[in-house]
Amino acid sequence: MDTELAPIQFAYGPSEAEILNNGHTVQVNLAAGNQIMLNGRTFHLKQFHFHTPSENTVNGKFFAMEAHLVHADADGNLAVIGVMFNKGDANPVIASLWAQMPKKAGAHKKLEATVDPMTLLPAAKDHYRFNGSLTTPPCSEGVFWLVMKNALPVSSAQADAFTALMHGPNNRPVQPINARPILE
Ligand SMILES: [Zn+2]
Repeated sequence: MDTELAPIQFAYGPSEAEILNNGHTVQVNLAAGNQIMLNGRTFHLKQFHFHTPSENTVNGKFFAMEAHLVHADADGNLAVIGVMFNKGDANPVIASLWAQMPKKAGAHKKLEATVDPMTLLPAAKDHYRFNGSLTTPPCSEGVFWLVMKNALPVSSAQADAFTALMHGPNNRPVQPINARPILE
């Protein structure tokens, strides 16, 4: 489907955060203040977390890792930005997070320094959009998915370290998205 998409407007900046190992993923909960504007609506960035390998595919291709940046508007509607990671050079942002991530499920701690969620986005913000459910329970409808077309690098060692901490892959089988319109 070929449509004119209004760009996402990002208002992200360095933020205090805590890092949490919830046994399913490693999640970074951010202090309030980061938001995106999407179709005239404001969505606040609550947290980001990771999956190895990717949950979403682009043209049928899986990636080594995927980050989900989870936003909510005042009515509780969600907008999730998916960022793919290709195997390549070590990623300095991931290195900093992995050095601080709790090894034990259920543990959390404050990040030593602020983290800017902009550093988890590719320079070019071209993306696919589709509507679907969240891939981890509770599955709620009314989720706007925004999947970045360009990937960031992650080293094999970084992706493997995450998979080992999660005791195996923490993606889940891809939902058929052919029934949903994909806008780009
Ligand atoms: Zn996720």
